[in-house]
Amino acid sequence: MTIAYCTNDAIKKNVDNIRQAINAGPNKHKAYDKLAYIVDTFGPRMWASPSMALAVDYLYNQIQNWEATKNGLVEVRLEKLDEISTWVRGSEQLILKSPRKRPQKLGMIGLGLIVPGNIKDGEVVVVRNWGELDEKGKANKIQGKIVCYNVPWTTYDDLKFYRQQGPDRASAYGAIAVLLRSVASFSIYSPHTGNVRYSGNFTKIPAAAITVEDAEMLQRMQDRGQKITVDLELNNEMKASESHNIIAEIKGSQHPEQIILMGGHFDSWDTGSQTGAMDDGAGTLVTLEALKVVADLGIRPLRTLRWIAWSGEEMGLPNNGAQHYVKKHGDEDHVVALENDVGQLTAIGFGFSGKLQTSRMVRQLIMNYIPDLSVVNENDGSGVDTKPLGDKGVPLMRNIYKDPNDDYYFKYHHSAGDTMNILNPDEMDSNVFAISSMMYIIADNPERLPK
Ligand SMILES: [Zn+2]
Repeated sequence: MTIAYCTNDAIKKNVDNIRQAINAGPNKHKAYDKLAYIVDTFGPRMWASPSMALAVDYLYNQIQNWEATKNGLVEVRLEKLDEISTWVRGSEQLILKSPRKRPQKLGMIGLGLIVPGNIKDGEVVVVRNWGELDEKGKANKIQGKIVCYNVPWTTYDDLKFYRQQGPDRASAYGAIAVLLRSVASFSIYSPHTGNVRYSGNFTKIPAAAITVEDAEMLQRMQDRGQKITVDLELNNEMKASESHNIIAEIKGSQHPEQIILMGGHFDSWDTGSQTGAMDDGAGTLVTLEALKVVADLGIRPLRTLRWIAWSGEEMGLPNNGAQHYVKKHGDEDHVVALENDVGQLTAIGFGFSGKLQTSRMVRQLIMNYIPDLSVVNENDGSGVDTKPLGDKGVPLMRNIYKDPNDDYYFKYHHSAGDTMNILNPDEMDSNVFAISSMMYIIADNPERLPK
């Protein structure tokens, strides 16, 4: 059976108005400006930290004060997460002792969720990959040592396993700590953090990211046969806390029970003074602005357009925002869910994960209304916070741009380089338009996306 989807003049006109409002109207550069205020005022937003709580309150109040909220078009609420414990960083340092003539502090940052540790004169063994780890481990050269993973950049998906599983796999051979070459596509001496995942099957050992430059230096020292020793101090603790998802929505006029979901995660790491500008303050504010443009134009689509600021993506600990959302809303009728957590270069289209017939209809809607965003990457729509919905059969989407391997994104990801400087107001606007128009079209098209 072939289905013809015809263009609808009202939708076309609304899409034109959305474009106009973002490119030359009252919503121009608003995502960037609002994000800059939050980043400058509240700083990094570690999950369930006091800074994050202040930023959540601020953003919630902002939405409450929208004209469209006051006149009843937009509804906004905080949803409190169930009991949570968050990881809190304390003081940390890494000092190179041997072979330096005098002790030398190295740039470093503890990886997220690690256990504390205090090691004096620990001996370092450098490995380039899992193969070298296994080789040295079986030769009993890892026992009682600190393993440094010096794995050159390829892609994030390849390398994140060294960060997440590196401590466990070194611990299996008796290592006492891990130093990880930062998972980054480029470095000007920047440590990049991120979470580790202890399986529970091995002794939990502490782990810290070091810079690409120092990992290479340690490699040279080892290759020369120099003995490497360091002092490593990592303080941190788990603390009971509380946090909230923020949800704002325009209820559908005809099918309020059918939900078009979009959002980003509002928590971040804490590497520098502005960390969380790009990851994922930008994704959060871009999707929020995508909702606000529609609301400012007074549009109430047929279906419900829902925005969420997820709480707790980075640590991924129990009862975080994504898990809470699925527990509370997972049985509602989600037509599609879009997560924006990939950076904000100029949008060219979307990643999509779902059934072929659904993807076909998405492509047709794009061709009809927003042909400048015609790139659709199949099986590329999933995000960390939307995956639990995808597992329940909800089609998933994300915005995409031209950047092979996400090299631009991973220069700055989880480092002190994640600042407002690496974002561009026009590029952010292109994502506001892409997401706003796509989500609006799906929400207002007479025929719903196939389940
Ligand atoms: Zn993120």
